[in-house]
Amino acid sequence: MSFFDHKDFDNHEQVTFFTDPKTGLKAIIAIHNTTLGPSLGGTRFYPYASDEDALTDVLRLSRGMTYKSAMARLPLGGGKSVIIGNPKTDKTPELLRSFAQSLNRLGGRYIAAEDSGTSVADMKIIHETSNHVSGYHEKKDAHGGNKSGDPSPATAYGCYLGIKAAVKHRLNLDTLKGLTVGIQGLGNVGYRLAEMLAKDGVKIVACDINDEALSKAEAELGATIVSLEDIYSAEMDVFAPCALGASVNLATVDKLTASIIAGSANNQLDTLSTGELLHARNICYAPDYVINAGGIIDVCYEQIGQYDPAAVNKHIEGIYDTLMEIFQRSAADNIPASHLADTIARERLAEKHPVVEFKQTA
Ligand code: NAD
Repeated sequence: MSFFDHKDFDNHEQVTFFTDPKTGLKAIIAIHNTTLGPSLGGTRFYPYASDEDALTDVLRLSRGMTYKSAMARLPLGGGKSVIIGNPKTDKTPELLRSFAQSLNRLGGRYIAAEDSGTSVADMKIIHETSNHVSGYHEKKDAHGGNKSGDPSPATAYGCYLGIKAAVKHRLNLDTLKGLTVGIQGLGNVGYRLAEMLAKDGVKIVACDINDEALSKAEAELGATIVSLEDIYSAEMDVFAPCALGASVNLATVDKLTASIIAGSANNQLDTLSTGELLHARNICYAPDYVINAGGIIDVCYEQIGQYDPAAVNKHIEGIYDTLMEIFQRSAADNIPASHLADTIARERLAEKHPVVEFKQTA
C-alpha cells in the first residue's frame, strides 16, 4: 500500500521514522500541520502489536493535536510521536537521549511532551539533549504552591468543566450534585477528575485494569467498582472515557445508559459514523479534543515561558464556552457535535487568531 493512500493520512506535512540500533529506539514523529506554530504533542511509548498500528496511531493523534490547539486558540501546530516498545522494560536514559537527538534533527518543528508511557522524569532526561521538549518545568499552581510539569491536573480540570457544560446543555442542571458519572480509567486524569466530581457530591462508578487505583477510589471517594465490560451498562448520567481510544463504538453505544459522553481519552469514537449515531440517539457528546485541551493549554503557557496559573485557568475555563457553542450549534443546525467540532476547528485554523504569543526556546 502506498503511504499516501493510508486511511489516516491527512496531508501531514512531515512523517519521519527514526531508528537507533544501539539503544533500540524505534520512533515515528508525525507533524500534521504547522500553520499556527510549531507542532506540539505528547510522546507515546507503547508496545504496538505492529508498526502499522503505531503509524495509524501517530497519524490520527497528530491530526487531533492540530484541531485541539486550533480549537483552544493556541499558537501551536499539531504533532505527535510514538516510540515502539514496552515502557516498563525498554525505556532507558540512552534510548530517551537518542529520541532527543531525533527531536533536534527536526529543528523545533515538533516539540515533545509526556503522554501514555512517558513521564515528567523522561521529559527531563530528553531536555538534557534537546530544547524541543515541554511539560517538565516546576510551575506555580493557582495557590502559589509548586507543581510538576505534568499537564494531567489541567486536563482533569478542563474535563470537569466540560461535564458541567454538557450537564447544563443536556439535563438543564446548574449543579452536578446527585448525578452519577462512570469513569473508564482512573489514571492521571481519571482519578483527579473523580476527586473533583466527588467533592461536588457526584456518585462515581469506575473501572480500571489497575486494582490499586480501584481500591483507592473505593476507599477515598466511595466509588462503586464495576468490571471493564459492565461500565457501559451501569446506571449513570455521564460516561467519562479516560483510558483508551475507540471505546465509543457501535457495540458499546448500544449498552450505554448515559445521555452524556464527556471524558479525557483521545480518539474516543472509533469512526466518524459513531458521531452520527450519538447525535441520532440524542446522546450529548463532548468532542474529545475540545474537552481534553486543558493539558495542551497548560503546556503551551509553560513553553511560552510566562506561566501564570490564573491566566492558564482562565484559558482552560474557555473550554466550557467552546463546548456550549458546539452543543447549541449542533442542536440548532442538526449536525453531530463531532462533525461540528471539526468544522469549527478548521474555521479557527483559517482565522489564525491565537490568544497567546509564542516565543520558542532556542
Ligand atoms: P494514564 O495512563 O495515567 O491512565 C489511564 C488509566 O486507564 C490507567 O489507570 C489504566 O490502568 C487504565 N486502563 C487501561 N486500560 C483500561 C481498560 N481497558 N479499561 C479501563 N481502564 C483502563 O493516562 P492519563 O494521562 O490519565 O490519560 C488518560 C486518557 O486521556 C488517555 O487517552 C490520554 O491520551 C488522554 N489525555 C491525557 C492528557 C493528560 O494530560 N494526561 C491530555 C489529553 C488527553
